[in-house]
Parts: sequence; structure tokens; C-alpha cells
Amino acid sequence: MKELFMPTRVILGKGCVKENASLFAEFGQKACIITGKTSAQKSGALADITETLTSQHIAYTIFDEVENNPSVATCFRGGQKAKAYGADFVIAIGGGSPMDAAKAVAAFATNDMAPMDIYGTIKKNPLPLLTVPLTAGTGSEVTPYSVLTVEEIENKKSFSHPESFSKIAFLDPGYLESLPRSVLFDTTADALSHALESMLCKRTSDISNVYAEAALRHLGKLIPDVIAGKPDFEKLLFASSLAGMAIAHTGTVVVHSMGYLLTYYNNVPHGRANALLLPGFLKLCAKHVPARVTPVLKAFGAETVEALCGIISQLVDEPVLLTEKEVKTFAKKAISAKNVSQNLWQISEAEEASIYATLQ
Ligand code: NAP
Ligand code: FE
Repeated sequence: MKELFMPTRVILGKGCVKENASLFAEFGQKACIITGKTSAQKSGALADITETLTSQHIAYTIFDEVENNPSVATCFRGGQKAKAYGADFVIAIGGGSPMDAAKAVAAFATNDMAPMDIYGTIKKNPLPLLTVPLTAGTGSEVTPYSVLTVEEIENKKSFSHPESFSKIAFLDPGYLESLPRSVLFDTTADALSHALESMLCKRTSDISNVYAEAALRHLGKLIPDVIAGKPDFEKLLFASSLAGMAIAHTGTVVVHSMGYLLTYYNNVPHGRANALLLPGFLKLCAKHVPARVTPVLKAFGAETVEALCGIISQLVDEPVLLTEKEVKTFAKKAISAKNVSQNLWQISEAEEASIYATLQ
């Protein structure tokens, strides 16, 4: 059985928030805006959103405490704020961290549940969510996933709900002009990782490949310009959303679950963690499932796996060095991740250790 499910309306173009002001009123009269500390202001997106809401006579409150790799505890606090305010809908402005946090906030706002219950059955539908991505990487604006940091398990863990897809994603390339170079590199690598992992897992289908191959075709052309310091933000946002639509159908595989540990324990930004692990993963794919790698290279426009890995390495702004002990303990923990079962071959703990060991 195959299914295509992409319920998010995606609007792409400079000025798209203000030009579509009337769409906001469909969702109610009170909004809760979820953002990080500074990016919503720096990018100009917060000003556009608040002016738009005011023009539509929609009241709003702002929760701007979302940290990078948001914790369940922060999202729970945001949910209580949205609930107390009586918000009708939630607007996320930010990279993956605020967008993922907003999905949890929207669920906490409608349900009387304890923080960790977010990983159980979410009884009532979350509040409707609108998203304004400020990075081109996570694709969170078109996925039902929310990846949160859980101190209790010393790791990151995702939940999803069919109603966590944002209703509308407003993709304005102008908001990405304030991106620091390192965040641009990290998030570009994340988008690439989504497209690659979507094409290299058990759940890959003709449907997911429509999105993943298109994302790879765009990224193959766009990444050299990112590296050269001349990013095309509009095309990057589009490519990143395509990659998000691909993982909305397949999920990610071991690159992501292994990367979460680099983020949790060594504070490596999410996309960079993927960029660091991808070469080791792709070389194993070439060994175990070469026929699956050929269409990946063709879509990206690389002659060989080595050429693709060389490009990925150029997106790593700062190297990471692991100790032998870290390699062992991370591999032991990573092999029990849920998505290991979606890998194209039965990957072993030793193979995961060999991927981490490329960082020694
Ligand atoms: P992020 O954590 O949202 O942001 C990283 C940093 O960049 C923050 O300091 C942020 O500032 C700043 N920033 C973001 N946009 C900016 C802009 N336009 N101008 C200036 N500064 C900007 O980074 P991200 O890589 O987009 O998101 C990573 C998170 O997404 C991780 O938690 C990851 O697990 C998750 N993720 C989710 C999915 C999914 O399907 N849901 C997929 C992949 C990854 P502020 O703190 O001020 O915002
Ligand atoms: Fe990701």
C-alpha cells in the first residue's frame, strides 16, 4: 500500500506573509507566537507577523524562550502559556527548533497531560499551526515530526501527530538573509541528509522519491553556490521543503539517530552532525546496496560516492573529534534507536562505531 499525504499549503516568495494577511483570520482571533531568542527579530519575520495580525484584528502573545534543540520542559511551559491565553492557533517563527517546539506547544495547549505524555497517545487534536521557517534545512514546516531533547533519556526523541503538520507554511527567502554562515552550512547539510536518507531506507517509495530526487537535483546545483558564499535562498527553501516532504513519507534513518547523540553530548548543531556522519554512512551504502546509491548520485549530479562525500565535507564549518570511548558508547546507544530497523541492511553496532570512528 502506498499513500501520498501532504496537507500543508506552501506559499513561497518574498513578502508572502503580508501579501496573504487575510489567510490568518481563518484560524481564529488569538494567536500564540513561538520563537527563539533573536532570529525572529533579526530576520524581520516577527515584525511582519505582528503587523499582519494587527491588520486582521487578531490578538497575540509571544513565547520567545525556545532554545536550540528545545527541551520537552520548555515546550510544556509554552503550552501552558498558550492555554492560559486561550490561543486559537499557534504561529512558529524560526528554524527547526521553534517549529518543532510549536508542534508540542500546540498539543500541550489542548490536552491536560504531563510533559512526557507527549510521547503517548495525544487525545485531543493540537491547535492549528502556521509556520514561518527562518532556515532552509529541517523541513519541519512540512513534516508532522517534532524532535525534542529529553533529559531523562539523555537523548533527542521525536513525536508526531497527523494534525501536527502546519496548515500553511510561509516561505519568505528574505528572512534567511540574516543567517550566520555556519547555520547556513549546517542547515543545508540537514536538507541534503533528509533527501539522501529518504532515498536510502526501507520505506523509500515512488511517492517519496518524487520529492527526494527533486530535492537532490536542486541541492546538487545549489550547494556549490552556498559554499562559495552566494546562496540562492528562495531555491534553497524550496529544496529544503521538498526534502521535508520526502521524510514526511519515509522518516530518516541512522544518520539522524546517530547524530542526535553528537548533539546531545557534544553540542554539535543538528545539521553539522549529519554532515559529519553522512560520508561514513554513504560508503557503507555503496558496499551493501550499490544499486540504491546509483540513482542518488544521478539525482545529485555526482560521478562517485567520493565526489559526493567531498562536497558534504565542505559544508562542515568546524570539525569534531571523538575519543575512542565516545565512539564505543555512542555506537552502543545508537544501535537501539527505533529507526535502525528502517536501514536497508541490518546495520551492526560495529558498523555504527566505524561511522563514528571517521571522526577520531
Ligand atoms: P535552530 O536550532 O532552529 O537555530 C539555530 C540557530 O540559528 C539559533 O541560534 C537561531 O536563533 C539562529 N537562526 C535561525 N534562523 C536565523 C535567521 N534567519 N537569522 C539569524 N539567526 C537565525 O536550527 P535548525 O537547524 O533550523 O533546527 C534544528 C532543530 O530542528 C533540531 O532540534 C533538529 O532536531 C530539528 N529537526 C527537525 C526536523 C523535523 O522534521 N521536525 C528535521 C530535522 C531537524 P534563535 O535562537 O534566535 O532562533
Ligand atoms: Fe534533520
